[in-house]
Amino acid sequence: MVLEVENLAKSYGQGAARTEVLRDVSFRLAAGETLALTGESGSGKSTVLHLVAGLDRASGGRIEVDGIEIGALADRGTAELRRRSIAVIFQQFNLIPSLTVEANIAFHARLAGVFEPARAAQLAERIGLAQHLRKYPEALSGGQQQRVAIARSLAARPKLLLADEPTGNLDEDTADLVLKLMLDCAAETETAVLMVTHSTRQAARMSRRLLLSHGMVKEAV
Ligand code: ADP
Ligand code: MG
Repeated sequence: MVLEVENLAKSYGQGAARTEVLRDVSFRLAAGETLALTGESGSGKSTVLHLVAGLDRASGGRIEVDGIEIGALADRGTAELRRRSIAVIFQQFNLIPSLTVEANIAFHARLAGVFEPARAAQLAERIGLAQHLRKYPEALSGGQQQRVAIARSLAARPKLLLADEPTGNLDEDTADLVLKLMLDCAAETETAVLMVTHSTRQAARMSRRLLLSHGMVKEAV
Protein backbone atom coordinates (compact mmCIF):
# COMPACT_ATOMS: atom_id res chain seq x y z
CA MET A 1 0.00 0.00 0.00
CA VAL A 2 1.21 3.50 -0.80
CA LEU A 3 -1.05 5.04 1.82
CA GLU A 4 -2.76 3.57 4.89
CA VAL A 5 -4.88 5.81 7.09
CA GLU A 6 -6.29 4.20 10.24
CA ASN A 7 -8.68 5.71 12.74
CA LEU A 8 -7.36 9.17 12.00
CA ALA A 9 -8.62 11.90 14.37
CA LYS A 10 -7.91 15.63 14.46
CA SER A 11 -9.13 18.40 16.73
CA TYR A 12 -8.16 22.05 16.64
CA GLY A 13 -7.97 24.28 19.73
CA GLN A 14 -8.24 23.58 23.46
CA GLY A 15 -10.99 23.43 26.08
CA ALA A 16 -14.22 25.21 25.12
CA ALA A 17 -12.67 26.32 21.80
CA ARG A 18 -11.91 22.72 20.82
CA THR A 19 -13.32 21.64 17.45
CA GLU A 20 -13.27 17.99 16.49
CA VAL A 21 -12.85 17.92 12.72
CA LEU A 22 -11.90 14.28 12.07
CA ARG A 23 -13.29 11.56 14.34
CA ASP A 24 -12.45 8.27 12.71
CA VAL A 25 -11.11 8.26 9.18
CA SER A 26 -9.72 5.07 7.62
CA PHE A 27 -8.86 4.27 4.03
CA ARG A 28 -6.10 2.76 1.90
CA LEU A 29 -4.60 3.60 -1.43
CA ALA A 30 -2.55 1.24 -3.60
CA ALA A 31 0.03 2.14 -6.26
CA GLY A 32 -1.63 3.51 -9.38
CA GLU A 33 -5.01 3.99 -7.70
CA THR A 34 -6.80 7.32 -7.86
CA LEU A 35 -9.13 8.42 -5.08
CA ALA A 36 -11.46 11.42 -4.88
CA LEU A 37 -12.13 12.86 -1.44
CA THR A 38 -15.41 14.75 -1.47
CA GLY A 39 -17.55 16.38 1.19
CA GLU A 40 -19.10 19.71 2.12
CA SER A 41 -17.03 22.81 2.66
CA GLY A 42 -15.55 22.65 6.17
CA SER A 43 -15.93 18.86 6.42
CA GLY A 44 -12.16 18.42 6.90
CA LYS A 45 -10.91 17.45 3.42
CA SER A 46 -7.90 19.79 3.46
CA THR A 47 -7.17 18.67 7.02
CA VAL A 48 -6.86 15.06 5.81
CA LEU A 49 -4.44 16.13 3.08
CA HIS A 50 -2.32 18.23 5.47
CA LEU A 51 -2.05 15.33 7.92
CA VAL A 52 -1.11 12.85 5.19
CA ALA A 53 1.51 15.30 3.88
CA GLY A 54 2.94 15.56 7.39
CA LEU A 55 2.31 19.32 7.43
CA ASP A 56 0.33 19.02 10.67
CA ARG A 57 0.09 16.43 13.46
CA ALA A 58 -2.89 14.14 14.01
CA SER A 59 -4.67 13.95 17.39
CA GLY A 60 -5.11 10.20 17.02
CA GLY A 61 -4.80 7.26 14.67
CA ARG A 62 -2.00 6.45 12.29
CA ILE A 63 -0.84 7.27 8.78
CA GLU A 64 1.65 5.19 6.81
CA VAL A 65 3.09 6.47 3.55
CA ASP A 66 5.04 3.92 1.58
CA GLY A 67 5.42 1.80 4.71
CA ILE A 68 6.65 4.66 6.92
CA GLU A 69 4.53 5.81 9.85
CA ILE A 70 4.40 9.60 9.73
CA GLY A 71 3.53 10.11 13.41
CA ALA A 72 6.75 8.39 14.45
CA LEU A 73 8.91 10.82 12.50
CA ALA A 74 10.43 14.08 13.73
CA ASP A 75 9.80 17.18 11.58
CA ARG A 76 13.01 16.57 9.65
CA GLY A 77 11.83 13.07 8.85
CA THR A 78 8.49 14.25 7.46
CA ALA A 79 10.28 16.87 5.36
CA GLU A 80 12.51 14.12 3.99
CA LEU A 81 9.52 11.87 3.28
CA ARG A 82 7.80 14.76 1.45
CA ARG A 83 10.87 15.35 -0.67
CA ARG A 84 11.23 11.69 -1.52
CA SER A 85 7.76 10.18 -1.79
CA ILE A 86 4.99 12.78 -1.68
CA ALA A 87 4.01 15.57 -4.06
CA VAL A 88 1.40 18.20 -3.29
CA ILE A 89 -0.64 20.39 -5.67
CA PHE A 90 -2.86 23.19 -4.42
CA GLN A 91 -5.62 25.27 -5.97
CA GLN A 92 -3.29 28.29 -6.11
CA PHE A 93 -0.59 27.12 -8.47
CA ASN A 94 2.29 28.10 -6.16
CA LEU A 95 4.89 28.40 -8.90
CA ILE A 96 8.06 30.32 -8.13
CA PRO A 97 7.61 33.63 -9.99
CA SER A 98 11.33 34.36 -10.35
CA LEU A 99 12.05 31.04 -12.07
CA THR A 100 11.33 30.05 -15.68
CA VAL A 101 8.87 27.26 -16.49
CA GLU A 102 11.83 24.94 -17.07
CA ALA A 103 13.40 25.77 -13.69
CA ASN A 104 10.04 25.45 -11.94
CA ILE A 105 9.57 21.95 -13.37
CA ALA A 106 13.06 20.96 -12.20
CA PHE A 107 12.79 22.57 -8.76
CA HIS A 108 11.50 19.79 -6.49
CA ALA A 109 13.37 17.02 -8.26
CA ARG A 110 16.60 19.00 -7.84
CA LEU A 111 15.86 19.53 -4.14
CA ALA A 112 15.28 15.82 -3.75
CA GLY A 113 18.52 15.09 -5.62
CA VAL A 114 16.70 13.05 -8.26
CA PHE A 115 16.54 15.49 -11.17
CA GLU A 116 16.52 13.70 -14.54
CA PRO A 117 16.64 16.13 -17.49
CA ALA A 118 15.05 13.56 -19.81
CA ARG A 119 12.08 13.02 -17.45
CA ALA A 120 11.57 16.80 -17.10
CA ALA A 121 11.68 17.26 -20.88
CA GLN A 122 9.24 14.37 -21.39
CA LEU A 123 6.80 15.87 -18.87
CA ALA A 124 7.04 19.33 -20.47
CA GLU A 125 6.22 17.76 -23.83
CA ARG A 126 3.41 15.68 -22.30
CA ILE A 127 1.69 18.68 -20.72
CA GLY A 128 2.04 20.68 -23.93
CA LEU A 129 4.39 23.37 -22.62
CA ALA A 130 7.61 22.44 -24.38
CA GLN A 131 7.40 25.72 -26.35
CA HIS A 132 7.14 27.80 -23.19
CA LEU A 133 10.09 26.59 -21.12
CA ARG A 134 11.92 29.95 -21.16
CA LYS A 135 8.86 31.93 -20.07
CA TYR A 136 8.03 33.04 -16.54
CA PRO A 137 4.81 31.92 -14.81
CA GLU A 138 3.18 35.38 -15.10
CA ALA A 139 3.19 35.01 -18.89
CA LEU A 140 1.06 31.85 -18.70
CA SER A 141 -2.70 31.31 -18.32
CA GLY A 142 -4.06 29.69 -15.14
CA GLY A 143 -4.48 26.34 -16.88
CA GLN A 144 -0.91 26.47 -18.19
CA GLN A 145 0.42 27.37 -14.75
CA GLN A 146 -1.33 24.42 -13.17
CA ARG A 147 0.09 22.16 -15.88
CA VAL A 148 3.57 23.37 -14.89
CA ALA A 149 2.76 22.61 -11.23
CA ILE A 150 1.71 19.08 -12.25
CA ALA A 151 4.93 18.50 -14.19
CA ARG A 152 6.95 19.88 -11.26
CA SER A 153 5.17 17.61 -8.78
CA LEU A 154 5.66 14.47 -10.88
CA ALA A 155 9.24 15.09 -12.07
CA ALA A 156 10.62 13.36 -8.97
CA ARG A 157 8.43 10.25 -9.55
CA PRO A 158 6.59 10.47 -6.20
CA LYS A 159 4.76 7.46 -4.79
CA LEU A 160 1.82 9.64 -3.75
CA LEU A 161 0.32 12.79 -5.25
CA LEU A 162 -1.92 14.87 -3.00
CA ALA A 163 -4.06 17.44 -4.80
CA ASP A 164 -6.35 19.91 -3.03
CA GLU A 165 -8.98 21.20 -5.49
CA PRO A 166 -6.28 21.38 -8.17
CA THR A 167 -8.68 22.68 -10.82
CA GLY A 168 -10.75 24.90 -8.53
CA ASN A 169 -9.49 28.10 -10.17
CA LEU A 170 -10.07 26.93 -13.74
CA ASP A 171 -13.05 27.00 -16.07
CA GLU A 172 -14.73 23.66 -16.73
CA ASP A 173 -13.09 22.82 -20.09
CA THR A 174 -9.63 23.75 -18.82
CA ALA A 175 -10.29 21.82 -15.60
CA ASP A 176 -11.14 18.67 -17.60
CA LEU A 177 -7.95 18.94 -19.63
CA VAL A 178 -5.76 19.62 -16.60
CA LEU A 179 -7.27 16.70 -14.67
CA LYS A 180 -6.75 14.38 -17.62
CA LEU A 181 -3.09 15.41 -17.92
CA MET A 182 -2.60 14.99 -14.18
CA LEU A 183 -4.06 11.48 -14.20
CA ASP A 184 -2.25 10.41 -17.39
CA CYS A 185 1.12 11.65 -16.12
CA ALA A 186 0.60 10.07 -12.68
CA ALA A 187 -0.34 6.75 -14.31
CA GLU A 188 3.00 6.64 -16.15
CA THR A 189 4.86 6.31 -12.86
CA GLU A 190 2.07 4.39 -11.02
CA THR A 191 1.82 7.35 -8.67
CA ALA A 192 -1.23 7.00 -6.39
CA VAL A 193 -3.45 10.11 -6.41
CA LEU A 194 -5.57 11.47 -3.55
CA MET A 195 -7.56 14.44 -4.83
CA VAL A 196 -9.94 16.68 -2.94
CA THR A 197 -12.71 17.95 -5.19
CA HIS A 198 -16.12 19.60 -5.07
CA SER A 199 -16.93 18.43 -8.54
CA THR A 200 -18.88 15.18 -8.99
CA ARG A 201 -17.83 15.33 -12.63
CA GLN A 202 -14.16 15.26 -11.65
CA ALA A 203 -14.71 12.70 -8.90
CA ALA A 204 -16.25 10.41 -11.53
CA ARG A 205 -12.89 10.29 -13.33
CA MET A 206 -11.15 8.73 -10.35
CA SER A 207 -11.00 4.99 -9.64
CA ARG A 208 -12.67 5.43 -6.20
CA ARG A 209 -14.60 8.06 -4.28
CA LEU A 210 -14.79 8.76 -0.55
CA LEU A 211 -17.32 11.02 1.10
CA LEU A 212 -16.20 12.81 4.27
CA SER A 213 -19.05 13.70 6.61
CA HIS A 214 -19.24 14.27 10.40
CA GLY A 215 -15.55 13.43 10.72
CA MET A 216 -15.89 10.00 9.10
CA VAL A 217 -15.53 8.64 5.57
CA LYS A 218 -17.53 6.19 3.56
CA GLU A 219 -17.03 4.85 0.05
CA ALA A 220 -19.34 6.68 -2.33
CA VAL A 221 -20.53 5.36 -5.68
P1 ADP B 1 -12.51 21.52 3.88
O1 ADP B 1 -11.19 21.46 3.21
O2 ADP B 1 -13.33 20.28 3.77
O3 ADP B 1 -13.32 22.70 3.45
P2 ADP B 1 -10.91 22.05 6.26
O4 ADP B 1 -10.14 20.82 6.48
O5 ADP B 1 -10.20 23.20 5.66
O6 ADP B 1 -12.25 21.70 5.46
O7 ADP B 1 -11.50 22.55 7.66
C1 ADP B 1 -12.33 21.73 8.47
C2 ADP B 1 -12.68 22.46 9.74
O8 ADP B 1 -11.50 22.67 10.51
C3 ADP B 1 -13.26 23.84 9.52
O9 ADP B 1 -14.28 24.04 10.46
C4 ADP B 1 -12.10 24.78 9.76
O10 ADP B 1 -12.56 26.02 10.24
C5 ADP B 1 -11.31 24.04 10.81
N1 ADP B 1 -9.86 24.32 10.72
C6 ADP B 1 -9.07 24.03 9.68
N2 ADP B 1 -7.78 24.38 9.92
C7 ADP B 1 -7.77 24.93 11.16
C8 ADP B 1 -6.76 25.48 12.01
N3 ADP B 1 -5.47 25.54 11.61
N4 ADP B 1 -7.14 25.92 13.23
C9 ADP B 1 -8.41 25.85 13.65
N5 ADP B 1 -9.42 25.33 12.91
C10 ADP B 1 -9.12 24.87 11.68
MG1 MG C 1 -10.31 22.64 1.72
